[in-house]
Amino acid sequence: METLLLSEKQIEIAAQLIRDGEVVGIPTETVYGLGADASDENAVRKIFEAKGRPADNPLIVHLSDFSEAEKYTSYIPELARKLADKFCPGPFTMILPKNDNIPLVTSGGLDTVGIRIPSHPVMHRLIELSGKPIAAPSANVSGYPSPTSAQHVMRDMNSRISAVIDGGQSQFGVESTVVSVENGDTVRILRPGCVTKEMILEICENVIIDKAVISGLEKDEKAASPGMKYKHYSPSADIVMIKSDLEHFTEYVGNHYGDNVYALIFDGDEKNFPYRYMTYGKNGSEQAHLVFQRLREFDDIHAEKVYVRTPSLDGVGLAVYNRLIRAAGFEVIRI
Ligand code: AMP
Ligand code: MG
Repeated sequence: METLLLSEKQIEIAAQLIRDGEVVGIPTETVYGLGADASDENAVRKIFEAKGRPADNPLIVHLSDFSEAEKYTSYIPELARKLADKFCPGPFTMILPKNDNIPLVTSGGLDTVGIRIPSHPVMHRLIELSGKPIAAPSANVSGYPSPTSAQHVMRDMNSRISAVIDGGQSQFGVESTVVSVENGDTVRILRPGCVTKEMILEICENVIIDKAVISGLEKDEKAASPGMKYKHYSPSADIVMIKSDLEHFTEYVGNHYGDNVYALIFDGDEKNFPYRYMTYGKNGSEQAHLVFQRLREFDDIHAEKVYVRTPSLDGVGLAVYNRLIRAAGFEVIRI
């Protein structure tokens, strides 16, 4: 088993592991990450191996301050600096042209690199103490829901990494918003998160949501963000999204009910709901906080089919929708 590091003092042990080229499970404000020295090819390969992650799916590099980005990128557009002033540190990643300090293994062969400045005090301290840029994808086995607790990481990694730092439940619960800056004046959202389109519009009037966020890519279509082409966030249970009011949702579940069939509904829906269910909050932020935990809990109880009430696409809801629709294989039943 991995050693579970509990006290902040032990962040120092984790920092030494990072310097030694090992992989550590780390709490961040979004989800738990699998961290290693982003500048060390061998250390980064261990991340890909532990997750079973395809080699062309790039890793985000975490730094202690945005000023450090100069060391790892070749150019930072003015708009990227404005966005950093507003959203860093926080759940926000920018894709920038990389320089040679970031190996191609880390960037999945691309000439760009995702840069994030996490706000979680443990992650922040670990970056400072190790003195390294830390590559950290979500700490789940590839394709499985992201981990929002140290226990999720322990279970998924099952002795494949050196240690996990226990920082409690993740605050936001979904991964960072990933954006690229185009033509100096446009922000493209490649993955929605808790920094929302509405928030970015306060800094920049041109914000595009990439097509892959809400619909699947056609066969052979090139993904702006390689992670978007893989089936993701899926528990063993078959997830089915239903967009309808509560009355029609309840009727649909009733018509398709059976052994190991469950519903994932909003808080408040449960009052007269006669079937097996879990709730996942009443607004986007609550749903983001709970969605991955619930998907894992359905596996714990051996659910085979889960009918999900489709969240709103506004604000943080878009991030929840994006994770669920990928878990559902891009199918939504509209009633
Ligand atoms: P994860 O590491 O699990 O948080 O996933 C990282 C996401 O960021 C994936 O969807 C990647 O495809 C995306 N990403 C990371 N680096 C880049 C990059 N250089 N260009 C485009 N997308 C990126
Ligand atoms: Mg991930």
